[in-house]
Amino acid sequence: MDLPFAESYKIKMVETMRRSIRKERERWIRDARYNLFNLRSDQVFIDLLTDSGTGAMSDQQWSALMLGDESYAGASSYFKVKDAIQDILGFEYFLPTHQGRAAENVLFSAMITEGNLIPGNAHFDTTKGHIEFRKATAVDCTIDEAYDTTLDHPFKGNVDLEKLEAVLQNNPRENIPLIMVTVTCNTAGGQPVSMQNLKDVYFLAQKYGVPVFFDSARFAENAYFIKTREPDYADSSIREIVREMFQYSDGMTMSGKKDAIVNMGGFIAFRDKILFRKSSVYNIMFEGYVTYGGMSGRDMNALAQGLYEGTEFDYLETRIRQTAYLGNRLRDFGIPTQYPFGGHAVFVDARRFLTNVPKEEFIAQTLAIELYLEGGVRGVEIGSLMADRDPVTRKNRYPGLELMRLTIPRRVYTNNHMEYVAVALKNVFDRRERITRGVKILWEAPIMRHFTIELEKIR
Ligand SMILES: *Cc1c(COP(=O)(O)O)cnc(C)c1O
Repeated sequence: MDLPFAESYKIKMVETMRRSIRKERERWIRDARYNLFNLRSDQVFIDLLTDSGTGAMSDQQWSALMLGDESYAGASSYFKVKDAIQDILGFEYFLPTHQGRAAENVLFSAMITEGNLIPGNAHFDTTKGHIEFRKATAVDCTIDEAYDTTLDHPFKGNVDLEKLEAVLQNNPRENIPLIMVTVTCNTAGGQPVSMQNLKDVYFLAQKYGVPVFFDSARFAENAYFIKTREPDYADSSIREIVREMFQYSDGMTMSGKKDAIVNMGGFIAFRDKILFRKSSVYNIMFEGYVTYGGMSGRDMNALAQGLYEGTEFDYLETRIRQTAYLGNRLRDFGIPTQYPFGGHAVFVDARRFLTNVPKEEFIAQTLAIELYLEGGVRGVEIGSLMADRDPVTRKNRYPGLELMRLTIPRRVYTNNHMEYVAVALKNVFDRRERITRGVKILWEAPIMRHFTIELEKIR
């Protein structure tokens, strides 16, 4: 008999979770103005809001914390991260920041000005926010296949080279300071980008003299997909694949809260010393001195260790198989999901799930509320609330996909928890025909509104 798959780690410490009853949840979500970000964590049973900073650190990371060097300048912890970045990612220069969006803020301060275009594959919300805040435009050049959730395509995060070349051709070079490729592409459903595509984008960009940066939050998961889906790389190690991926870039922004498995931290890495120096000025202004950025010494130690653990095949296999486990259970129940499943999350296609709710009433948000009411499970809307209003017309934007994301924290939940989530969502699915009304907006912020929005149920 073949031995079954089993997780590549065991549990050393546990945290108690609290169940609740539907009546409590009805009150809590109303008090939270139907915004799941406003719930207290003890009002949630299984929390699939995000995989950002929610992972369980290893015994090695916890012990590395104790060795943190809290010197203001030149701490050994800084050099641990520097060495790990050079070793694993191959970059000579780096700046620590407190998280991924801080890396965007610093890098974009040095690179982007009003009127610029930043092409890429479905930019992440904070990336887009930082671009639009500078009165520049994020141009989505993702392949069309990404927007058909039923289509089986191994690399739905790929950049459409024709769309990209059209942007490069039809605009003056000085208006395009960089291309931003997100690996894996979160907004398209945690979908990977192939090595071939990374290579093609880089050579096309070189032809036009435009630098390429990777938004690298889930670079290791991307490498796992390259290994398991791109035939040329089946025999390469994750570290070899990661090294090659970054050869097709000029730099990267990183949220350490994802594939470096820490609760807080991030960085920017560069090849170009001039850009590194220019960015250092903004880092000192916004984040902290260049050898700690927004991080304490102990946080940098945990991050350096996390970069090694996050790029181990056994860990990645455990993680990505858990995501697929949840995805397959949902598919067994006939629930429409983005397919293939992403690395960090299963994305439920809310338009195909709640067919009776009009798009003006925020379908994916309505679904996330229903799932919370059903089982105390917190997912998150990746749809028209998150898409914000058009900065010029101020009209609601309805993106290609209206998704509810079930995001799986790293090394935190068991497959029994995944089973619970799947059944809770099935129960909502069974009564989907009777869900006909969504929510309306009571208050919203001008940008990145989904975090703080206040909503009301339409009766
Ligand atoms: C999380 C994330 C960011 C932002 O990082 P934070 O650490 O949350 O600030 C940027 N890009 C992608 C693709 C992400 O997933």
